[in-house]
Amino acid sequence: MNEHKSEGMAGVLARAGYLPADDPAHADVVLFNTCMVREKPVHKIISEAGVIAQLKKKNPNLLLGVGGCVAQALKEQLFRKSPAIDFVFGSANISEIPRLIEQARQQRALGRPGWVMAVDKIPDKIEDLPFLRASRFQAKVTITEGCSNFCSFCIVPYTTGLLRSRLPGDILAEVSELAAQGYKEVQLLGQNVDSYGKDLKDPNITFANLLRALTEIPIPRIRFTSSHPQDITDDVIALFGEENNICEHVHMAVQSGSDKVLKDMRRGYTKEQFLQIVKALQERGVNVTTDIIVGFPTETEEDFQETVDLVKRARFGGAFIFKYSPRPGTIAYYKYRDTVPDEEKQRRLEILLALQKQITDEENRKCVGQTVEVLVEGPARHPGFLMGKTRDNRTVVFEGSSDLIGELVHVTITEGSVAGLAGFACTVHLSLIHI
Ligand code: SAM
Ligand code: SF4
Repeated sequence: MNEHKSEGMAGVLARAGYLPADDPAHADVVLFNTCMVREKPVHKIISEAGVIAQLKKKNPNLLLGVGGCVAQALKEQLFRKSPAIDFVFGSANISEIPRLIEQARQQRALGRPGWVMAVDKIPDKIEDLPFLRASRFQAKVTITEGCSNFCSFCIVPYTTGLLRSRLPGDILAEVSELAAQGYKEVQLLGQNVDSYGKDLKDPNITFANLLRALTEIPIPRIRFTSSHPQDITDDVIALFGEENNICEHVHMAVQSGSDKVLKDMRRGYTKEQFLQIVKALQERGVNVTTDIIVGFPTETEEDFQETVDLVKRARFGGAFIFKYSPRPGTIAYYKYRDTVPDEEKQRRLEILLALQKQITDEENRKCVGQTVEVLVEGPARHPGFLMGKTRDNRTVVFEGSSDLIGELVHVTITEGSVAGLAGFACTVHLSLIHI
């Protein structure tokens, strides 16, 4: 979602006449688009701002702006943390960036640089931005912003506001336009796509109905992220049993395998309910991937073993595993102390990583011998090779020429490992016999 916001920032600047620089050292303006879901975002900003401060010595006209979640939360405090920051913009103030640049420039020209800032409260409407898309064949499309779930560990509702859904007509028009432009894949974005429409008070506006309407648009691939086990419905799951353009990949965070920890996290489902959804999806050929947090304050060794058991049974195609990081402002931050020591979090993380690696390896080996459709994304690390993704979101490497980038090709899989799949592209041999 942050990458897509950056496409919005690039579009706003392009509209104001700015050109992209290939390196911060050659830029007149540098923007940091920040996220504060995990770890130490402020430390990162200060250290990166230090790098820009060095560049400013060579180019005194260089301006640094900071936006995204951290700017939305900390506002003018950011100026106190790093003198290299020239302006700060909130999550809903992206279209004001050109004005802020001009203001910062004028203040500097007058010899009295000050705090240039636009941080409004998150509005009810999603900001309309002229996206400058990074790819000519894959596009991200926002369907919701914000989140009203308030999981106890999560900062997202506080930094991005409550759930706001775009109207289905606007989404369908955007995707139709992308299809007409020749895009091959659209990825729908929302913190919890299954909650789409719940704020719009029209019972017909649901995620399943939106997906069904999108299957009518002639675009080869529709993806979405993230799904939520509490809100995913049978209608959405049923769409995977049909032949349509909905790709067979669901990223659905489980966070923990312990019912007690899930309750403390305010996730709204149990381990067995989650496993049932996974089973229903996998029976329809869906590759399910997940997020897990280890070291939540109430997670005991017993609870952790429940997560190990869940990972063994769910056989995810992949998993992002995080160490719990207390986020000031969240329910868990005030309710619990960060009691699990870092070494213990690290130990649990490594156990799950090793287990998931083994499962990913085994699952990828099962693909050997299959011929799969791949959207070619770009060159692979090895010269002469390309990389792309299957419909179910596995990475595939194969030999081919760069004119295939952006195309859908068929690849026969010869190898599968934890790193992904490898194979050879199928060429169609056609004989024309003139009689
Ligand atoms: N909305 C998605 C969902 O509920 O499935 C998750 C979005 S969140 C931005 C991405 C992931 O970051 C979460 O699934 C969770 O695993 C992780 N995360 C969020 N807050 C965290 C925290 N305080 N500490 C560690 N990991 C966290
Ligand atoms: Fe955060 Fe929970 Fe919303 Fe996901 S569903 S963004 S974890 S509050």
